[in-house]
Amino acid sequence: MASQSVARQITGAVDSIADRIIATHRLIFNHPETCFNERFAAEKLTSWLRDEGFEIKKPYAGLATAFLALHKTASNDPKVALIAEYDALPHLGHACGHSLIAASAAGAAVALKQVAPGHPGSLLVIGTPAEEGGGGKVKMISEKAFEGVDAALMAHPSNKTRVISRMYAINELEFTFTGKAAHAAAFPEQGINALDAGVLFYNAVAVMRQQMRDGARVHGIFTHGGDAPNIIPEKVVMNFYVRALDRDYFMELTEKIKNAARGCAKSAGCKVSIKRKGSAYDPFYPNYPMGEAFRKNMELLKIEEDGFGQTEEIGSSDIGNLSQVIPTIHPEYAVGGRDDINHSRKFLEAVTSSKGERAMISMTKTLALTVHDLLFDASLIKRVKAGFGKTGSR
Ligand SMILES: [Zn+2]
Ligand SMILES: [Zn+2]
Repeated sequence: MASQSVARQITGAVDSIADRIIATHRLIFNHPETCFNERFAAEKLTSWLRDEGFEIKKPYAGLATAFLALHKTASNDPKVALIAEYDALPHLGHACGHSLIAASAAGAAVALKQVAPGHPGSLLVIGTPAEEGGGGKVKMISEKAFEGVDAALMAHPSNKTRVISRMYAINELEFTFTGKAAHAAAFPEQGINALDAGVLFYNAVAVMRQQMRDGARVHGIFTHGGDAPNIIPEKVVMNFYVRALDRDYFMELTEKIKNAARGCAKSAGCKVSIKRKGSAYDPFYPNYPMGEAFRKNMELLKIEEDGFGQTEEIGSSDIGNLSQVIPTIHPEYAVGGRDDINHSRKFLEAVTSSKGERAMISMTKTLALTVHDLLFDASLIKRVKAGFGKTGSR
């Protein structure tokens, strides 16, 4: 951990640029851009970091709105990356608070560089677009955008403050059952009912739930159930999300669900085609040693954690894929009340409330202190590496 006096300098540096951090968040908040269209946000962040002496690569990893901001000294290693997300939601603006994530990642990097310009290793801010469905990090991983990075961290606004949570792997699957149309009253025997296959499949999944392991979620809807009651449905489309915390079980479960669809199609005399929609996200494996370092810095700043020591499962994110390739943490912090949950109108208000912005500044300090620990404490990096790849069960 940083000495008392270094910690004071770092928190003081964040305080001295707090207005700029908040202004950056508000600019991005008021100019929401979705999935791979985040030009304004990427430009605001990189121009600030460039002014502060960071070397900028944009576009990065083949994506126009991704970026790398780098500050290195004589030694290259360790490489520590603050992750910035800045995409908004369709129709709901920054109701996931990514404007706060972006501003605090840039702010933590700027403050730390001001206090320790001759730090060991490399200090990186990596801008990762399209978390909300586009799988920006998945594409960036395939372009080797994080290669050589020893530790990655970010802090995400939420309804609770907690260092460690787990996230599900997710596959979004579309099942299309195809039968044969016929007049439902005059010639029903000539039809092949695709809706029968769909209903059987919905129920097959429901029945399978009893045998599913803990930490799995399967949920789906009908997106097309037929065309008219007097036509035997020839086409039925269903969308299902398959999620699990454990990667191997996730693959096994996905296969079981697909087999159930195949079996149901067969029993109704139909055909089924199965298509993956969007990117598949891996489960998030938090790095416990890095989480411990983050928690100690929260304690130093007297930031309370909700449900200390408890691990909760939240949704799915492309940060899961990143956690499978490098040590990663994704702490969360409350910006409003317990009921103000991400992707809601109330959360949108909380993100720009003074409570939310104050929480973001506190988390910016925690991020900066933790990056300092990672750059300066070789034994911490060793522990972080040793803790890499462990599943969510410590
Ligand atoms: Zn979200
Ligand atoms: Zn989010």
